[in-house]
Amino acid sequence: MADLGSAKSTASIINKYGFSFQKRFGQNFLIDEHVLDKIVDAALIGKEDGVIEIGPGIGTMTQRLCEAASKVVAIEIDKELIPILSETMSGYDNVKIINADVMKTDLDKLIRDEFSGMSVKVVANLPYYITTPIVMSLLENHLPVESITIMVQKEVAQRMQAGPGTKDYGALSLAVQYYADTYIAANVPPNCFMPRPKVGSGVIRLTVRKEAEVEVTDEKLMFSLIRAAFNQRRKTLVNAVTNFSGLDYSKEDIEKALAELDISEKIRGEALSLQQFADLSNILT
Ligand code: SAM
Repeated sequence: MADLGSAKSTASIINKYGFSFQKRFGQNFLIDEHVLDKIVDAALIGKEDGVIEIGPGIGTMTQRLCEAASKVVAIEIDKELIPILSETMSGYDNVKIINADVMKTDLDKLIRDEFSGMSVKVVANLPYYITTPIVMSLLENHLPVESITIMVQKEVAQRMQAGPGTKDYGALSLAVQYYADTYIAANVPPNCFMPRPKVGSGVIRLTVRKEAEVEVTDEKLMFSLIRAAFNQRRKTLVNAVTNFSGLDYSKEDIEKALAELDISEKIRGEALSLQQFADLSNILT
Protein backbone atom coordinates (compact mmCIF):
# COMPACT_ATOMS: atom_id res chain seq x y z
CA MET A 1 0.00 0.00 0.00
CA ALA A 2 1.16 3.55 -0.79
CA ASP A 3 2.68 5.02 2.39
CA LEU A 4 3.77 8.42 1.01
CA GLY A 5 1.66 11.48 0.23
CA SER A 6 1.69 13.60 3.38
CA ALA A 7 4.01 16.36 4.60
CA LYS A 8 4.98 14.12 7.53
CA SER A 9 5.99 11.05 5.51
CA THR A 10 7.84 13.23 2.93
CA ALA A 11 9.78 15.12 5.62
CA SER A 12 10.61 11.86 7.38
CA ILE A 13 12.14 10.21 4.29
CA ILE A 14 14.08 13.25 3.09
CA ASN A 15 15.48 13.82 6.60
CA LYS A 16 16.48 10.18 6.88
CA TYR A 17 18.60 10.51 3.69
CA GLY A 18 19.74 14.10 4.31
CA PHE A 19 18.23 15.03 0.95
CA SER A 20 18.23 18.68 -0.09
CA PHE A 21 15.83 20.02 -2.74
CA GLN A 22 17.41 21.09 -6.02
CA LYS A 23 15.78 24.18 -7.52
CA ARG A 24 17.47 23.54 -10.88
CA PHE A 25 15.54 20.25 -11.18
CA GLY A 26 12.20 21.89 -10.34
CA GLN A 27 11.77 19.76 -7.23
CA ASN A 28 8.40 20.43 -5.61
CA PHE A 29 7.08 17.17 -4.19
CA LEU A 30 3.38 16.49 -3.83
CA ILE A 31 2.14 16.15 -0.26
CA ASP A 32 -1.62 15.94 -0.82
CA GLU A 33 -3.27 12.53 -1.17
CA HIS A 34 -6.42 13.97 -2.68
CA VAL A 35 -4.43 15.57 -5.53
CA LEU A 36 -2.40 12.40 -6.06
CA ASP A 37 -5.60 10.37 -6.41
CA LYS A 38 -7.00 12.98 -8.81
CA ILE A 39 -3.97 12.73 -11.10
CA VAL A 40 -4.01 8.93 -11.17
CA ASP A 41 -7.80 8.92 -11.78
CA ALA A 42 -7.49 11.54 -14.55
CA ALA A 43 -4.89 9.39 -16.32
CA LEU A 44 -7.51 6.60 -16.73
CA ILE A 45 -4.95 3.86 -16.16
CA GLY A 46 -6.10 0.27 -16.62
CA LYS A 47 -4.59 -2.88 -15.11
CA GLU A 48 -3.10 -3.81 -18.50
CA ASP A 49 -1.48 -0.41 -19.14
CA GLY A 50 2.15 0.61 -19.10
CA VAL A 51 3.06 3.98 -17.56
CA ILE A 52 6.07 6.20 -18.06
CA GLU A 53 6.53 8.56 -15.14
CA ILE A 54 8.83 11.53 -15.66
CA GLY A 55 10.50 12.70 -12.43
CA PRO A 56 9.29 10.33 -9.69
CA GLY A 57 10.99 12.34 -6.91
CA ILE A 58 10.79 10.19 -3.76
CA GLY A 59 8.17 7.92 -5.37
CA THR A 60 4.97 9.40 -3.96
CA MET A 61 2.97 9.15 -7.19
CA THR A 62 5.00 6.17 -8.43
CA GLN A 63 3.56 4.00 -5.64
CA ARG A 64 0.02 4.82 -6.74
CA LEU A 65 0.84 4.34 -10.43
CA CYS A 66 2.24 0.86 -9.65
CA GLU A 67 -1.03 -0.02 -7.94
CA ALA A 68 -3.07 1.11 -10.96
CA ALA A 69 -0.93 -0.15 -13.89
CA SER A 70 0.67 -3.33 -15.14
CA LYS A 71 4.15 -1.79 -15.27
CA VAL A 72 5.74 1.59 -14.52
CA VAL A 73 9.04 2.92 -15.83
CA ALA A 74 10.11 6.05 -13.94
CA ILE A 75 12.86 8.33 -15.24
CA GLU A 76 14.59 10.47 -12.60
CA ILE A 77 17.50 12.82 -13.33
CA ASP A 78 18.70 13.35 -9.72
CA LYS A 79 21.00 10.54 -8.61
CA GLU A 80 20.50 11.54 -4.95
CA LEU A 81 16.91 10.29 -5.25
CA ILE A 82 17.82 6.81 -6.49
CA PRO A 83 18.62 5.26 -3.06
CA ILE A 84 15.43 6.84 -1.68
CA LEU A 85 13.39 5.34 -4.52
CA SER A 86 15.00 1.93 -3.84
CA GLU A 87 13.51 2.08 -0.36
CA THR A 88 10.12 3.62 -1.11
CA MET A 89 9.48 1.35 -4.11
CA SER A 90 10.78 -1.86 -2.50
CA GLY A 91 7.25 -3.20 -2.00
CA TYR A 92 6.49 -3.12 -5.75
CA ASP A 93 7.72 -5.63 -8.35
CA ASN A 94 6.28 -3.85 -11.41
CA VAL A 95 8.51 -0.78 -11.44
CA LYS A 96 11.78 0.08 -13.14
CA ILE A 97 13.68 3.22 -12.11
CA ILE A 98 16.01 4.77 -14.67
CA ASN A 99 18.50 7.43 -13.55
CA ALA A 100 18.55 9.66 -16.65
CA ASP A 101 17.57 12.99 -18.14
CA VAL A 102 14.25 12.44 -19.93
CA MET A 103 15.28 15.00 -22.57
CA LYS A 104 18.19 12.74 -23.53
CA THR A 105 16.27 9.47 -23.34
CA ASP A 106 15.20 7.59 -26.47
CA LEU A 107 11.57 7.14 -25.42
CA ASP A 108 10.61 5.38 -28.64
CA LYS A 109 13.15 2.64 -27.92
CA LEU A 110 12.17 2.56 -24.24
CA ILE A 111 8.53 1.95 -25.21
CA ARG A 112 9.52 -0.83 -27.61
CA ASP A 113 11.85 -2.49 -25.07
CA GLU A 114 9.72 -2.14 -21.93
CA PHE A 115 6.09 -2.08 -22.99
CA SER A 116 5.70 -4.54 -25.83
CA GLY A 117 1.98 -5.10 -26.55
CA MET A 118 0.80 -2.61 -23.91
CA SER A 119 -1.02 0.71 -24.17
CA VAL A 120 1.30 3.34 -22.80
CA LYS A 121 0.38 6.46 -20.83
CA VAL A 122 2.70 9.21 -19.64
CA VAL A 123 2.06 10.67 -16.20
CA ALA A 124 4.17 13.36 -14.53
CA ASN A 125 4.31 16.14 -12.01
CA LEU A 126 6.61 17.95 -14.39
CA PRO A 127 9.48 20.22 -13.54
CA TYR A 128 8.21 23.46 -15.08
CA TYR A 129 11.43 24.22 -16.96
CA ILE A 130 10.91 21.27 -19.32
CA THR A 131 7.12 21.33 -19.69
CA THR A 132 6.85 22.70 -23.22
CA PRO A 133 9.89 20.91 -24.74
CA ILE A 134 8.91 17.53 -23.31
CA VAL A 135 5.22 17.81 -24.26
CA MET A 136 6.00 19.01 -27.78
CA SER A 137 8.65 16.38 -28.33
CA LEU A 138 6.26 13.61 -27.21
CA LEU A 139 3.56 14.91 -29.56
CA GLU A 140 5.65 15.93 -32.58
CA ASN A 141 7.61 12.71 -32.66
CA HIS A 142 4.35 10.74 -32.77
CA LEU A 143 5.46 8.51 -29.90
CA PRO A 144 3.06 5.60 -29.43
CA VAL A 145 1.46 6.92 -26.23
CA GLU A 146 -2.29 7.13 -25.62
CA SER A 147 -2.28 10.06 -23.27
CA ILE A 148 -0.12 12.45 -21.30
CA THR A 149 -1.44 13.50 -17.88
CA ILE A 150 0.69 16.19 -16.33
CA MET A 151 0.89 18.72 -13.55
CA VAL A 152 2.00 22.02 -15.07
CA GLN A 153 1.89 25.70 -14.17
CA LYS A 154 -1.78 26.73 -14.04
CA GLU A 155 -1.28 29.31 -16.83
CA VAL A 156 0.34 26.70 -19.06
CA ALA A 157 -2.63 24.34 -18.61
CA GLN A 158 -4.95 27.22 -19.52
CA ARG A 159 -2.86 28.07 -22.60
CA MET A 160 -2.89 24.46 -23.77
CA GLN A 161 -6.70 24.37 -23.55
CA ALA A 162 -7.51 27.91 -24.80
CA GLY A 163 -9.58 28.64 -27.92
CA PRO A 164 -9.51 31.48 -30.51
CA GLY A 165 -10.11 35.03 -29.33
CA THR A 166 -9.13 34.42 -25.70
CA LYS A 167 -6.07 35.98 -24.08
CA ASP A 168 -4.48 32.59 -23.37
CA TYR A 169 -4.79 31.39 -26.99
CA GLY A 170 -1.45 31.08 -28.73
CA ALA A 171 1.03 28.90 -30.60
CA LEU A 172 1.10 26.38 -27.71
CA SER A 173 -2.71 25.99 -27.77
CA LEU A 174 -2.69 25.26 -31.49
CA ALA A 175 0.32 22.94 -31.35
CA VAL A 176 -1.15 20.87 -28.51
CA GLN A 177 -4.69 20.82 -29.92
CA TYR A 178 -3.44 19.73 -33.34
CA TYR A 179 -2.23 16.47 -31.79
CA ALA A 180 -4.46 15.96 -28.76
CA ASP A 181 -7.78 16.54 -26.99
CA THR A 182 -7.32 18.49 -23.78
CA TYR A 183 -9.04 18.15 -20.41
CA ILE A 184 -8.14 20.12 -17.28
CA ALA A 185 -8.70 17.73 -14.35
CA ALA A 186 -7.72 19.91 -11.38
CA ASN A 187 -6.34 23.21 -10.16
CA VAL A 188 -3.72 22.67 -7.49
CA PRO A 189 -2.67 25.39 -5.00
CA PRO A 190 0.96 25.83 -3.82
CA ASN A 191 0.27 24.36 -0.35
CA CYS A 192 -0.06 20.88 -1.89
CA PHE A 193 3.71 20.79 -2.50
CA MET A 194 6.92 20.69 -0.49
CA PRO A 195 8.58 23.14 -0.91
CA ARG A 196 5.74 25.43 -2.01
CA PRO A 197 6.10 26.81 -5.55
CA LYS A 198 5.42 30.51 -6.15
CA VAL A 199 2.67 29.79 -8.69
CA GLY A 200 -0.52 27.76 -8.88
CA SER A 201 -0.55 24.50 -10.81
CA GLY A 202 -3.02 22.52 -12.87
CA VAL A 203 -3.44 18.93 -13.99
CA ILE A 204 -4.16 18.50 -17.68
CA ARG A 205 -4.75 15.32 -19.68
CA LEU A 206 -3.80 15.32 -23.35
CA THR A 207 -5.43 12.41 -25.16
CA VAL A 208 -3.42 11.83 -28.28
CA ARG A 209 -5.55 11.74 -31.43
CA LYS A 210 -5.34 8.60 -33.53
CA GLU A 211 -6.33 10.59 -36.57
CA ALA A 212 -5.58 14.25 -37.23
CA GLU A 213 -8.55 16.56 -36.67
CA VAL A 214 -7.55 18.81 -39.56
CA GLU A 215 -5.96 17.87 -42.88
CA VAL A 216 -2.70 19.69 -43.50
CA THR A 217 -0.54 19.24 -46.58
CA ASP A 218 2.54 20.90 -45.06
CA GLU A 219 2.64 20.82 -41.24
CA LYS A 220 5.85 22.84 -41.18
CA LEU A 221 4.25 25.67 -43.14
CA MET A 222 1.16 25.68 -40.90
CA PHE A 223 3.29 25.94 -37.76
CA SER A 224 5.39 28.72 -39.33
CA LEU A 225 2.18 30.65 -40.06
CA ILE A 226 1.07 30.10 -36.46
CA ARG A 227 4.44 31.26 -35.13
CA ALA A 228 4.31 34.33 -37.36
CA ALA A 229 0.76 35.17 -36.27
CA PHE A 230 1.55 35.04 -32.54
CA ASN A 231 4.99 36.59 -32.84
CA GLN A 232 3.19 39.86 -33.48
CA ARG A 233 -0.24 39.06 -32.12
CA ARG A 234 -1.51 42.67 -32.07
CA LYS A 235 -0.85 43.06 -35.81
CA THR A 236 -3.15 41.86 -38.57
CA LEU A 237 -2.34 38.38 -39.85
CA VAL A 238 -1.37 39.87 -43.22
CA ASN A 239 1.26 42.14 -41.61
CA ALA A 240 2.47 39.52 -39.11
CA VAL A 241 3.08 36.96 -41.86
CA THR A 242 4.71 39.37 -44.32
CA ASN A 243 7.00 40.73 -41.54
CA PHE A 244 8.05 37.22 -40.44
CA SER A 245 11.58 36.38 -41.53
CA GLY A 246 10.94 32.62 -41.90
CA LEU A 247 8.20 33.09 -44.55
CA ASP A 248 8.34 34.59 -48.02
CA TYR A 249 4.82 35.70 -48.94
CA SER A 250 3.63 39.06 -50.25
CA LYS A 251 0.66 40.98 -48.81
CA GLU A 252 -1.28 40.10 -51.94
CA ASP A 253 -0.61 36.35 -51.48
CA ILE A 254 -2.05 36.40 -47.96
CA GLU A 255 -4.96 38.72 -48.81
CA LYS A 256 -5.90 36.50 -51.75
CA ALA A 257 -5.76 33.35 -49.61
CA LEU A 258 -7.90 34.99 -46.89
CA ALA A 259 -10.43 36.12 -49.49
CA GLU A 260 -10.67 32.55 -50.78
CA LEU A 261 -11.52 31.47 -47.23
CA ASP A 262 -14.00 34.29 -46.83
CA ILE A 263 -11.96 35.77 -43.96
CA SER A 264 -11.49 39.53 -43.54
CA GLU A 265 -8.04 40.82 -44.52
CA LYS A 266 -8.09 42.80 -41.26
CA ILE A 267 -8.19 39.68 -39.11
CA ARG A 268 -5.56 39.03 -36.45
CA GLY A 269 -4.03 35.58 -36.13
CA GLU A 270 -5.37 35.24 -32.60
CA ALA A 271 -8.91 35.04 -34.02
CA LEU A 272 -8.17 32.11 -36.36
CA SER A 273 -9.13 28.55 -35.44
CA LEU A 274 -6.89 25.52 -36.01
CA GLN A 275 -9.06 24.60 -39.01
CA GLN A 276 -8.59 28.09 -40.49
CA PHE A 277 -4.80 27.95 -40.03
CA ALA A 278 -4.85 24.53 -41.74
CA ASP A 279 -6.98 25.86 -44.63
CA LEU A 280 -4.73 28.90 -45.03
CA SER A 281 -1.58 26.81 -45.13
CA ASN A 282 -3.17 24.38 -47.62
CA ILE A 283 -3.92 27.30 -49.98
CA LEU A 284 -0.41 28.75 -49.58
CA THR A 285 1.37 25.39 -50.07
N1 SAM B 1 6.76 13.12 -8.93
C1 SAM B 1 7.24 13.72 -7.70
C2 SAM B 1 6.09 14.26 -6.91
O1 SAM B 1 5.04 14.48 -7.52
O2 SAM B 1 6.22 14.47 -5.71
C3 SAM B 1 8.29 14.80 -7.98
C4 SAM B 1 7.86 15.94 -8.86
S1 SAM B 1 9.01 17.27 -9.00
C5 SAM B 1 7.95 18.59 -9.53
C6 SAM B 1 9.89 16.97 -10.53
C7 SAM B 1 10.81 15.76 -10.54
O3 SAM B 1 11.42 15.65 -11.85
C8 SAM B 1 11.98 15.84 -9.58
O4 SAM B 1 12.14 14.63 -8.92
C9 SAM B 1 13.19 16.15 -10.47
O5 SAM B 1 14.42 15.71 -9.92
C10 SAM B 1 12.81 15.42 -11.74
N2 SAM B 1 13.43 15.96 -12.98
C11 SAM B 1 13.75 17.25 -13.25
N3 SAM B 1 14.27 17.36 -14.49
C12 SAM B 1 14.26 16.10 -15.02
C13 SAM B 1 14.69 15.58 -16.27
N4 SAM B 1 15.20 16.36 -17.22
N5 SAM B 1 14.58 14.24 -16.48
C14 SAM B 1 14.04 13.43 -15.51
N6 SAM B 1 13.62 13.88 -14.31
C15 SAM B 1 13.72 15.20 -14.06
